[in-house]
Amino acid sequence: MMDQLNDITQHLLRSSPDALIVVDANGRIRFANETVTELFGYALEQLLDKPLETLIPERLRGKHVSHLTAYLSKPGNREMGARIADLYARRADGSEFAAGIRLAPFKIGERLFVAAAIRDNTERQQINEALIAAREEADRANRAKSRFLATASHDLRQPIQTIRLLNAAMLKISRPDLRELLQQQERAIEGMTRMLNALLDISRLESGAIEPQLADVPLTDTLHQLNTEFESVAQARGIAFRVEPASLVVSTDRTLFYQLLQNLVGNALKYTDQGEVKVSCVTGSAALTITVSDTGIGIPADKLDRIFDEYYQVDTQGAKRMGVGLGLAIVKEVARLLGFNVSIRSRVGEGTQAVISIPNQYLTAIAAGADSTAAVEPAGGATRRSRVLLVEDNDGVRLATELFLRFEGFHVESAPSAAEAEVLFGKFQRGDVIVADYHLDGRNTGLELLTRLRQRLGYDVPGVVLSGDLPSVLRSLRTPVPNCRFLSKPVDTSALLDAIDELSSGAGTDRRSMTGGAV
Ligand code: ADP
Repeated sequence: MMDQLNDITQHLLRSSPDALIVVDANGRIRFANETVTELFGYALEQLLDKPLETLIPERLRGKHVSHLTAYLSKPGNREMGARIADLYARRADGSEFAAGIRLAPFKIGERLFVAAAIRDNTERQQINEALIAAREEADRANRAKSRFLATASHDLRQPIQTIRLLNAAMLKISRPDLRELLQQQERAIEGMTRMLNALLDISRLESGAIEPQLADVPLTDTLHQLNTEFESVAQARGIAFRVEPASLVVSTDRTLFYQLLQNLVGNALKYTDQGEVKVSCVTGSAALTITVSDTGIGIPADKLDRIFDEYYQVDTQGAKRMGVGLGLAIVKEVARLLGFNVSIRSRVGEGTQAVISIPNQYLTAIAAGADSTAAVEPAGGATRRSRVLLVEDNDGVRLATELFLRFEGFHVESAPSAAEAEVLFGKFQRGDVIVADYHLDGRNTGLELLTRLRQRLGYDVPGVVLSGDLPSVLRSLRTPVPNCRFLSKPVDTSALLDAIDELSSGAGTDRRSMTGGAV
């Protein structure tokens, strides 16, 4: 019986698919099986009693000795290659191969031995290298895609801006029978604008170009802004929209935080045909949760784990929904950047709850009774149409804006460059409103022109600044700019009119009374 067992052991050792060697505590080879001789091209006698270094490339021998010493001081079963990147073995002919080596120590009496199983890992390493190369290629392609999307969506803004303004101008003067066609065209342009904005947002987020700028953001402000933006949308859709008050202050990036909520509330309204959309806040022991809940169509349970993927849209029974499937991908990226957690619960036919969880570390203070929404100025109500001084370097956008504003009853004068704007501003009279593109040329922004004019005249001349990259512009502002509205391009025509009317109704306000002396 014992003999038979010995035979089996001998046989196993000899024909093992792994090359097996045993070294003693001095690093000398005490045993090698046939696979070793085949793999390395040595005869058994050439290996027995030789130092293990015989099987290691010369350039790695120094390192190997220190590895072996370290191992012998703390022997144990382990995979060698896991910690040593360049693990190579050397054949008798001097050639090398990538080796996978597993070690197992054992003792005979008091003497320590180490058994090593050696495998030729060349193929595995090649596969690994190919995988790494494929991964790098995919990352490169993804970055190129993001860059392309960012550039394309940015450059498409100017022509869309032009079309949008021209459409609005035509709507103003057209015959009633044409009006419906133009209104449909307007809806299509709005849809296109939304898609462009989403594409630009996701590509900017993905390319890592956005760094959150922390500020103390009173929740009341954010909730008030949400209410202002969405209450008329909800009303138009016949849905109740409720934003419950909350008075915490969140230390976060104001623009990104708003973008997060904007996407969730936008979705809730988009996918709800009747009932209610509600935004509520609850403080907990570890976090504040903001819940956006709706009584809409809901999301099937088996689709829930995919809705945060880019371009993923649930097939809503053939109902064509507005959107590109990027809203929740943006939410996910923004939440990651801000350190928040967002989860979505839903039941088909009953509704959806999106829950943002903001860890307590971001909650800086309770704004006791500081309802800053009270400070928001009432929306003008002005019917007076003032003169607009327009600075825009894109010819198409400038002409379209001029036309649009003229049809709306404004007197408009324009300048195509910063230099000509200086001349135009020489004609400035109290009551005029400046509308300027932010990105004018390498040296001047529309905001700088406005600031210079304000310094010259000594009061906060009313201004509207337009930008295709509004989040970056807003983030670059160190202090709020009084008596100035920032609007995103392609501009929403009614937002532009509201801004001009609002500013001109308060135009001429003295700087000191507006800002309390602070600039
Ligand atoms: P989309 O632009 O299509 O709205 P999103 O990334 O914002 O893209 O959302 C992905 C999908 O998740 C949507 O197409 C929609 O099917 C589903 N979804 C998101 N929010 C809601 C919601 N509140 N109610 C029902 N379905 C929703």
